[in-house]
Amino acid sequence: MATKRDYYEVLEVSKTASAEEIKKAYRKKAIKYHPDKNPGDKGAEEKFKEAAEAYEVLSDPQKRQQYDRFGHSAMGGGSGGFSGGGMSMDDIFANFGDIFGGHFGSAFRDFASSFGGGGFYDGSSSNRRATSKGSTLRVKVNVSLQEVASGVEKKIKVNKLVSCSHCNGSGAKDANSIKTCSTCKGSGVVTHIQRTILGSMQTQSYCQTCGGTGKIITDKCEYCSGEGVVRAEEIIPINIPAGIEDNMQFTLRGKGNAARNGGVPGDLLVLIEEEEHPELIRDGSDLIYNLLLDLPTAVLGGTVEIPTVDSKVKVKIEKGTQPNKVLRLRNKGLPRLNSYGSGDLLVNIGIYIPETLSGEEKKTFEQFNLSPNFKPKESSTKGFFNRFKQMFD
Ligand SMILES: [Zn+2]
Ligand SMILES: [Zn+2]
Repeated sequence: MATKRDYYEVLEVSKTASAEEIKKAYRKKAIKYHPDKNPGDKGAEEKFKEAAEAYEVLSDPQKRQQYDRFGHSAMGGGSGGFSGGGMSMDDIFANFGDIFGGHFGSAFRDFASSFGGGGFYDGSSSNRRATSKGSTLRVKVNVSLQEVASGVEKKIKVNKLVSCSHCNGSGAKDANSIKTCSTCKGSGVVTHIQRTILGSMQTQSYCQTCGGTGKIITDKCEYCSGEGVVRAEEIIPINIPAGIEDNMQFTLRGKGNAARNGGVPGDLLVLIEEEEHPELIRDGSDLIYNLLLDLPTAVLGGTVEIPTVDSKVKVKIEKGTQPNKVLRLRNKGLPRLNSYGSGDLLVNIGIYIPETLSGEEKKTFEQFNLSPNFKPKESSTKGFFNRFKQMFD
């Protein structure tokens, strides 16, 4: 058997180290050589055990005193280890509870459950009862372009599981019908010793008898058949911010289905569906309006009415306005989500060419056809192609 290293040396503390210093030093070693961090590393496992053994002795004032006086020889006789045969992984993990509080405590629980336990703990180390979470609900909410422009609060009727008001979600007929689970003594978890590749390990898992609640219901609530939840309709106000877009979704925490056994309610997922506007097309925060201009107004100029989200605006048309010209009405678009300002309203101009003409009109156009003003100039041809190009940029 190899010579044992000095316990103070193992933990890298001085012989006069305080109890707190020893604890701190051990915590450091335990984290460093933790089997979870060093899977399959035998050397790390040995160091992990060595540190645990050193801590077991040095953390106990009586054992520490003995060790100080007589060294290893006084500690265990034949087999050499202080606790007679060295410490098992079980012993080490069993002691972890008081070494690691808080954060690492929960990391340890994760570790333990990753080795066969499983279960969802409520986070506090003193109470490891399983808590259930209600399922996520999804709702679609239709919004009009007007509502997108202003933002709106919608009250949505949701059919969901709510906590039973008769038993307050406990599922029990009355207080006397709730008994402490005898399998786990109310803790909700059971401890197993498991042999793994890293040695034997202590793992914790849900108590199967009570499903991790720590309680047994003897008489069920008749309103919810012991489920603790009932189906009901609830009106949920949903705040829809201005500028929201089609297919966006957001989560309302805790507004989903209630959980059985009085757990945490699930979330409500809201999916936005934008209704099509009869005249305006949305492009992000910009709006597009396709204006079909009559020929005389395009030629002579004039005023037209353009619909906006909430009203109408009068827009001046210059004489000689060409098809495919785009007018940009600043800030007449939609507000930008999570930002300042609004988009623009783009008026995309098309020109209506008459499809039927009276004899009189036909004569007039034949007259026009003789005038060079009605023939495209080279510059207007260029302009047309430039606009055409822009459309594809
Ligand atoms: Zn009930
Ligand atoms: Zn139980």
